[in-house]
Amino acid sequence: MSNDAEGRMKYKGLLIVIAGPSGAGKGTIYYEVLRRRPDIQKSVSVTTRAPRPGEEDGVHYHFRSLEEYQDMSAKGSFLETASVYNNYYGTPKAPVFNMLAEGRDVMFEVDIYGARQIKARYPDCVMIFVMTPDFAVLEQRLRARRTESEDALSRRISSAKNELSQYDIFDYIVFNDEAEASVDTVIGIIDAERSRVRRNEDRIRALLGKEIKRPSQKNKS
Ligand code: 5GP
Repeated sequence: MSNDAEGRMKYKGLLIVIAGPSGAGKGTIYYEVLRRRPDIQKSVSVTTRAPRPGEEDGVHYHFRSLEEYQDMSAKGSFLETASVYNNYYGTPKAPVFNMLAEGRDVMFEVDIYGARQIKARYPDCVMIFVMTPDFAVLEQRLRARRTESEDALSRRISSAKNELSQYDIFDYIVFNDEAEASVDTVIGIIDAERSRVRRNEDRIRALLGKEIKRPSQKNKS
């Protein structure tokens, strides 16, 4: 086995968390990053909410009844779980562990409570917060959806402020002015995180282990 192959064998997958207020565009960024980078794996969440038009079971979410969800939760099948706008969402543990064990990077799109739980369990994860350039833009985007009452709209704005105030759990913030540029930024973050020296120490040691002999052999001769 070559040094290179040894290094790759020991390379561990990253847990990449994308969070941010509803309306900030994190879902769009998440799916575009996955489309452009098939090497990054999607964590398919379980939810009790009904599928929206175009959503497929097992692709966008695993759609389950409340009873099925509670049963999975009681069995400890979730890595994190949260209730968001009256529905339950959870990340199933087993597929994530399998992907990480294979050295693959896994990306999660979760709410702030889910993000906190992942950070608490895996402090080495990469935490990315997606936000609009300011709150006026967030309000414009939420209004453009035309699905919110004035009450619901102001609840979402104040919940966005609450989420942003928890910025200290995040490593990166992406001010999403233009989606394509934000996707480039997120991909740049992931690639930079992969290149961190501390994430590649096993690989570096494997390389040095073989090369280190050469200078000392030279010195002896
Ligand atoms: P939606 O129903 O619009 O797809 O998602 C609603 C919210 O639930 C979004 O903020 C999304 O990030 C969050 N969400 C989706 N999947 C999960 C999950 O597995 N865990 C947690 N904690 N939140 C999730």
